[in-house]
This record gives sequence, structure tokens and C-alpha cells, in this order.
Amino acid sequence: LRGCDWDYVIMPLTADERRRHLNHFISQPAPSTPKPDSVPPQTKSQFTLAVKDNIATSSSLPTTCASNILSGYVSPIEATIVTQLRALGASITGKTNLDEFGMGSHSTHSAFGPASQGSSEEVPISAGGSSGGSAVAVANNEVDLALGTDTGGSVRLPAAYTGVVGYKPSYGMISRYGVVPYANSLDTVGFLSRDIKRIRDLIAGNQGEAGRAGLWKHHDPNDPTSLSLPARLRCAGQRQGYTKRWEKESLKEIKFGIPLEYNIEELDPKIRDAWSAGAELLQQEFGAKVVPVSLPTTKQALAAYYVIAPAEASSNLAKYDGIRYGKRDEEAASDAAGGVLYAATRGKGFGEEVKRRILLGSYTLSSEAMDNYFIKAQRVRRLVRRDFNRVFALENPLHERETFSLSDLPETIELEDKWGPEEVDFLLCPTAPTLAPKLAEVMDQASVDSYMNDVFTVPASLAGLPAISIPVRIASEGGSGTAGLQLIGQYWDDARLLGVAEAMA
Ligand code: GLN
Repeated sequence: LRGCDWDYVIMPLTADERRRHLNHFISQPAPSTPKPDSVPPQTKSQFTLAVKDNIATSSSLPTTCASNILSGYVSPIEATIVTQLRALGASITGKTNLDEFGMGSHSTHSAFGPASQGSSEEVPISAGGSSGGSAVAVANNEVDLALGTDTGGSVRLPAAYTGVVGYKPSYGMISRYGVVPYANSLDTVGFLSRDIKRIRDLIAGNQGEAGRAGLWKHHDPNDPTSLSLPARLRCAGQRQGYTKRWEKESLKEIKFGIPLEYNIEELDPKIRDAWSAGAELLQQEFGAKVVPVSLPTTKQALAAYYVIAPAEASSNLAKYDGIRYGKRDEEAASDAAGGVLYAATRGKGFGEEVKRRILLGSYTLSSEAMDNYFIKAQRVRRLVRRDFNRVFALENPLHERETFSLSDLPETIELEDKWGPEEVDFLLCPTAPTLAPKLAEVMDQASVDSYMNDVFTVPASLAGLPAISIPVRIASEGGSGTAGLQLIGQYWDDARLLGVAEAMA
């Protein structure tokens, strides 16, 4: 299979292959010595959980978003997803390191210093970001499941770099209540594990011990973007897979699309090989259909994302002013001059990348720049969504199939639809264009270069679609030796996406 060890899919690395590394946990519960009679009975469904530190945990664990501005902050509430998972048997092992407020692709923009993978004797490798700490905790076998957040790829990219499974659900499926917002219209809670079945049981929840889970059903009235129950049932009614058992055999029924625009020049040849080996395997061994498809707006998606996400971030982060939220700069607080407190608190509290995004977002939302940037980016977002709707066999239950109008298109987009439309079930593509780089190479990397890593993950985010990164082993020298292949599905086709991913294992 030309360098792609498909057997590795879903298989956890052995203990020898994964060694401890520092800095992926940034806070952990104090060890307690429970009295023998208060020890809860261990049931098989209990599991250990790491929680990305931008997801609120109440009680003794702070929620810092890896930012100095929230240093020591303890949330008065617990995120709904944490409460739900605790009710399903999760015990929290600790809070994990991330890029400050989720902004980054290598977990290097953290007030706690970077998270990384590799043993202390080895050259550290990027853990990916922004949920890098969660990914390393899972890869090191320290927890069964980890929560991350995925705004533009922050669960899928670290999963690909560290060789674990990373799943981003459909937007609106998992409650965001208690998740510190970065870019609300894109933010989703995501799941990292070595085992797809564990994630599938929690989400689709029709089989096994966690049968009562079925997180897809749970509307949260505290989150205005959580899909209502009638909408959930309507969406699921048009989908299979919430009750189906998935076997390798089932893959025969599936048509996979290969989006040609993802075959970019910058794609590492080893990843390209793994991608074509995966496609061949699906076709030849599993009897699936594999066809080329075209998503013409892919090229514009990354730029649109880096306009929309910072714009929303600049608004979300306005509340950290040392008065409403945030660690106040006390020296400036005693200064009589108005405005000094804000500037000093924010100047000292935020890291460089966060400041860059706030400036960028404030600019693109300003009256003179808005039409040129923010509004155009929203139009591109609509086109990205339409590209996906055009190739998927299933309708998007939230949108009418949009009619094609030439005046909608930016001039740069090719009008010719070379390869389709093909009515496919899922798209198969790489998760990231390169293998995990050495940490030293990315520590001082220009921000725009690191934005490149998100080129394959942001389109599904802009369209709110479910996507999963599945690990494949790659022959490589001095790297982590793993890469991710990504499956993207139509909106609310999560159960089938997870089922198909599991069947590929
Ligand atoms: N790397 C992207 C960014 O910095 C994605 C982050 C995320 O998904 N939280 O915005």
C-alpha cells in the first residue's frame, strides 16, 4: 500500500511507541484518598476524560484557555458536555494545554509553554493545535477520551499529527454551553480517542453499554445554537445509521468522493500516497465506489475562514477588560487616567497571536473594510456550503438546495464543473497537507505559514459539516510517523460517518 499501513487505522500505538512528554496537562485534580466505603462501585462504562482548558469545569479545576488573562480563573458553571460525560461514567483526569483561546495549529501559543509529543530524549514534535494537549493525552494512553474544540480543525489536525481519532460533530449537535467562545458560528466541541467505537457509542448511542448515551438527541436550552429536538428528529429521520450496525460489508453501499482541489502542490507526497492507497483499498478490497468530485471554492475557503474567525474572535474577546472578566492589571487600576486599565490589562493578558487576531478582526469589521473582507468572506462561506451540497447525495436538511447563479461567484472561481456533480456519501481527503513538523520548526513560524495547515479542515467547518480524522501510519524519518485521512459527511450524517469510519478499521 505504498507506505500506508492501513492496518494501523484505529489501532492504538503500543505503550513502547508512545512515551511520556511534558506539558500537555496544565491542571489536574488534587489526588484524593477516598474513604473505602465512599469508593463508587466501578462499572465497566467508567472512563477517563481529559478536558481542553477552554471548556468549563467547575469545582477545583481552573479554566484558563491557556491565557494569562484568565490565569487561575475558576468557572462558576460546568460545561454541559462535561456534565453529560460525567453522568455517563467519565472521571476527569485533567485539563489540557492548547493554543490560547483555541487560536493556532501547533499548541505553541500557550501561556503555559508549548505542548508537544515525543519523549524527553527525543526532538519534540508538534502536537498540532489547538487541542494538542488533549491529543497527546489520548495518544500517550493516559486517558480513554479527550474533549477538544474544533473551530477550523483544532481536533482533526492534532489527531492527525499524534495518530489518534479526532471527530468534529455537525454544528449544533453538541452543546457549546460552558465552552469559551472563539468564533461562535464555527465552534464545535470535538472528541479524541484511540477508538472510534467509544466515540460512536457516545454520539449515536444505540448499542453497547453506553447505549443510553445518544448525545445526538440532547438539545441544550442553555445554548442558543443547540439544534432543537424537533429539528434533531427531523434531521435524523432523513439519515440512516442511528440504528444500523456497521460492518466492512456495509462499505459496499458507500460512494466516496475524492475532492480534486485537495490535491495541492504543497501536499506531502507520502500523504498523497496514503490517500490514494486508502481510496484503492476502499474500492478494491471493500467494494466501495470511489469517484472524483470537484469543490471549486476550496481555494477561497482558507482566506474566508481567516477573515470570519478573527472577526468573531475580536467581538468575543472584548469582554476581557479587567473589569467584567480577566485578570486586572492592578498597577494600571490605581492609575487615575481612564482607558489605561483596559489597555494594560489586555496588553499584558493576551499573547501575540490573540492580539494579532483581535487587530485583524477589528479591522475587517470596521466600516471602511467590512464590505471588502467580512461580507465577501460570508459570500465565500455560502459558496463553500453550496459546493458540498452539490456533491452529496443527501440533502442538507438546514438549507434548500441552492440554485446556481453566475453572479454569485467571485471572478476567480472556475465555472466549469469538470467532474460532476457526483452524488456521493462521503468525501475522503487528507486531514493536513504535511506530517507533524518538529516543534522547533514551528515555534517561530510566521503566522500565515501556520494558517496553511488548516487548508483541508476549514471547508467542513465553514459548512458546519461532520468530519473525522482517522490515523494512518506513514513511513517517515524523525517524525511522528502518522498522518490523518479525513472523512467529511453531509450535515447530521454523523452516525453514518462514525459507522463507516469504524467499518474501515
Ligand atoms: N488553526 C485554526 C485557527 O487558529 C483552527 C483553530 C480551532 O479550530 N480552534 O483558527
